[in-house]
Amino acid sequence: MLDFTLTPEQLLLQKSAREFALKEILPLAWFYDEANEMPMHIINKASALGLMNGDMPKKYGGLGYGSIEGAIVTEEIAAACSGLATSVFINSLGYAPLVLSDNEVLKQKYLPKISKDNKRICYATSEPTMGSDVAGMMCQAKEDGDAYILNGIKYWITNGGIADYMTVFATVDPKLQHQGICAFLIERDWKGVSSGRHIPKYGQRASNTVGLHFKDVRVPKENVIAKPGEGFVLAMKAFARSRPMIGAFAVGVARSAMDYAIHYAKSRRAFGHHLQSYEAIQFKIAEMYQKVETSRLLVLKSAWETDHGIDPTLNASISKFYCTEAANEVANAALQIAGGYGYTKMYPFEKLLRDVRLLMIYEGTSEVQRIIVSGFALGVYQPIMPPIEDLPMLRSETGGKDFEKEMSGKTAWRCKMCGHIHYGNEPPDECPYCFFPGSAFKKVWPRA
Ligand SMILES: Cc1cc2nc3c(=O)[nH]c(=O)nc-3n(C[C@H](O)[C@H](O)[C@H](O)COP(=O)(O)OP(=O)(O)OC[C@H]3O[C@@H](n4cnc5c(N)ncnc54)[C@H](O)[C@@H]3O)c2cc1C
Repeated sequence: MLDFTLTPEQLLLQKSAREFALKEILPLAWFYDEANEMPMHIINKASALGLMNGDMPKKYGGLGYGSIEGAIVTEEIAAACSGLATSVFINSLGYAPLVLSDNEVLKQKYLPKISKDNKRICYATSEPTMGSDVAGMMCQAKEDGDAYILNGIKYWITNGGIADYMTVFATVDPKLQHQGICAFLIERDWKGVSSGRHIPKYGQRASNTVGLHFKDVRVPKENVIAKPGEGFVLAMKAFARSRPMIGAFAVGVARSAMDYAIHYAKSRRAFGHHLQSYEAIQFKIAEMYQKVETSRLLVLKSAWETDHGIDPTLNASISKFYCTEAANEVANAALQIAGGYGYTKMYPFEKLLRDVRLLMIYEGTSEVQRIIVSGFALGVYQPIMPPIEDLPMLRSETGGKDFEKEMSGKTAWRCKMCGHIHYGNEPPDECPYCFFPGSAFKKVWPRA
């Protein structure tokens, strides 16, 4: 049964995430954006309130929330500051490969430390020379007895500077592409692991982003999350779970931009009236509202699929690129409604616009999502409608109005090239429009 209502528990979770976002995050958002710094105490508070690690299974000390609950929390936190939301959320992406793996010993060893001891974990696939092309990674793992020796660099790693643990994807041989990729759980304290300086960014400045360097790091085999050849699929499975959450980030940012624009349109006067009285402004607000609503539906659909064991890959991609692009449009339109003030640092719009830009880049760019969706639409998807060459686009030759009477006993042929319909027992020798021979005609009536 289709049901769009949130359960009482989900409403309660939404309320507590909203309160936390409005009271604890919103007042600090511009401060830490300016400081280019991640406030650890906020991350710790989010963790203590159960707003982090929510989707970790209960048997490892997590709350066992589903993706729908994850989307609810993420929308609220991102509405206050999507940079901080990125740092709160990244733990879930960091441990997703381990949760999805079948290494039970490793799960028992690390997941409770993350859920109960407030340990942080990051997720590292990207490198200085590759991001979208995950199979092209260079960071190398060489087998050495009961261990792998890891050498290479990961770049753009969210929370990489503060994580206790790292889920690191590497390859046993770059030439093997997908077949060579494996994944490991690595501890920050291990010899040879180091992190670079916080990378200065355009937006989401409160989120920690660094490079990681691995120099002859000895990784015991029990810390293998995915064996060589299994890492690529695991990375993609983790993305399929996390992309709906990026959609939820976008919903949060778009909702905030719309809320601020509504406040502004109701209070600002121009030409003797409030801005809200002008149709040009009303239509912008209507489109914002439409985009927030449609985005949320897409996020919830892909989250629902995850929670029901349905492969969410396709809808996760659709929601990722639809919601993030819609949120960019909403934030841009909201700034326009606020005019000159919108462009200043004294109003909230410019930060929203800077922050939202990243959503179209990380966790697979908009272009990568289009590659995934077009691959499905043009490959796996089976169109419902008949091929055009089979279309019986029948018309009356006499101006009659009774279809059955007119077509009874008639045969119709369609020219595969130009679409001309010929009525007669045989196809014509030649199409009178495109001059293709009779062999180009296909029988389209009577019904097969
Ligand atoms: C702030 C921030 C945080 C991040 N956090 C993490 C993290 O925690 N962990 C992690 O592993 N990574 C992280 N990333 C990396 C992020 O996932 C990559 O930046 C992203 O996947 C794009 O990779 P790239 O930057 O190397 O761009 P490239 O892959 O070099 O692509 C450049 C441009 O070309 C386009 N392009 C590439 N290939 C094609 C194609 N075949 N067809 C059409 N267009 C194409 C891309 O869409 C993009 O527009 C983060 C990035 C940023 C900026």
